[in-house]
Amino acid sequence: MTKETWGRVKNELVGSVGQNNFKSWIEPLILDSLQDGVARFEVPTKFMRDWVSRNYSEIIRQHLAKAGAEVERVEFHVAGKQERSHQFKPAVEPKAPGNGDGSDLIVAPLDQRFTFDSFVVGKPNELAHAAARRVAEGGPVTFNPLFLYGGVGLGKTHLMHAIAHELRSRQPQLRVLYLSAEQFMYRFVQALRDKEIMGFKELFRSVDVLMVDDVQFIAGKDSTQEEFFHTFNALVDQNKQIVISADRAPGEIKGLEERIKSRMQCGLVVDLHPTDYELRLGILQQKADQYRGQYPDLRIAPGVLEFLAHRISTNVRVLEGALTRLFAFASLVGREISHELTQDCLADILRASDRKVTIEEIQRKVSEHYNIRLSDMIGPKRVRTIARPRQVAMYLAKTMTTRSLPDIGRRFGGRDHTTIMHGVRKVEELKSTDSQLADDLDLLRRLLEA
Ligand code: ADP
Ligand code: MG
Repeated sequence: MTKETWGRVKNELVGSVGQNNFKSWIEPLILDSLQDGVARFEVPTKFMRDWVSRNYSEIIRQHLAKAGAEVERVEFHVAGKQERSHQFKPAVEPKAPGNGDGSDLIVAPLDQRFTFDSFVVGKPNELAHAAARRVAEGGPVTFNPLFLYGGVGLGKTHLMHAIAHELRSRQPQLRVLYLSAEQFMYRFVQALRDKEIMGFKELFRSVDVLMVDDVQFIAGKDSTQEEFFHTFNALVDQNKQIVISADRAPGEIKGLEERIKSRMQCGLVVDLHPTDYELRLGILQQKADQYRGQYPDLRIAPGVLEFLAHRISTNVRVLEGALTRLFAFASLVGREISHELTQDCLADILRASDRKVTIEEIQRKVSEHYNIRLSDMIGPKRVRTIARPRQVAMYLAKTMTTRSLPDIGRRFGGRDHTTIMHGVRKVEELKSTDSQLADDLDLLRRLLEA
């Protein structure tokens, strides 16, 4: 593998990551060495190192492998500090009029693949999708903020990028800013350090649409939260649209200030539910169609996609990864994607998603959630504040594991199976009328499945 090969691989990467991402993140990489299955690249900055290694190392590895380089790992290290940094200009928003230092505002690069067209809509995500569409129309602000939440890999980031793409093409004059909460903090801390806090404030207050991904990240980070709160209010006051995502509902984010929670709840809060079988199958079919374009000779045996939709859990990222590997492997060996090949190729993924939740895990998560001691969960106390969480745990143990009632009883301090049955029934009955309980169950289930 030579520098020329890297040159070719680079050209192919343009197609996979899109022109903008390529310019920002791939082009500045300098191939340093390729030895013992490790490809080492020089990057100009630490920030870029973190970003690229988190977001692009796998795709780079795949492309290198396709070009015949045996690469197991891709590493990035920051080049000698001095004049290198000028090579790297992060993606930049147009300057705010008259705003002198607006030019270095980092926006996270948008993934070209995350569009509304490529988003498969099903029952679990139809509300979130509809709300995102509405915001993307760019009409008068009707709900502010739009708060999207849901477990890992359910499409929050995809929807946010889709909104940004759509807005940028419909209304290119709008200043649309998308970034993760982590980047927000990073920029804030940097501004504090460089005594540029006024510039920071002006910048964030001058956007038309602000999208902050994974806002749970700033929980517990007090001064960042404070700044975020002011930014948020300033934009809402100007009637600018805000879109936020998090891995759970505003009220469930521990360490997030109350006033922020309640601000978040003022808009529209919608959740992405765990995928169901139909949605998973839809996503697999869409992906498989794309791959068929790429590998026209490959055939998939009937039933394979259905099998995967059944067997692989809710996280779409895992689902996509499985399919990618399957196609790569099948094209390498030049065979049809049969059931057998699927089992061989995905043994680890299939095993992992086979993972059963244990009663102990359920008890632990439920105690944490309700803030009670694990020993009380199993112990004899009958006060409501303990008995109810215990029943919730019983219910989850019954519905999420294959354990029998007597078996569950034994793990709840040797209780009788009729006690367990009573607890399960109680929760079943309550959850249709008590929406807080229903939300708790939803959240706990998600945490346990993650
Ligand atoms: P999150 O931000 O919620 O963790 P992402 O938006 O990063 O999840 O989605 C993970 C992966 O799954 C992405 O590649 C995304 O394109 C894909 N994905 C998730 N939901 C869908 C969907 N409904 N249709 C198509 N792709 C999806
Ligand atoms: Mg995300």
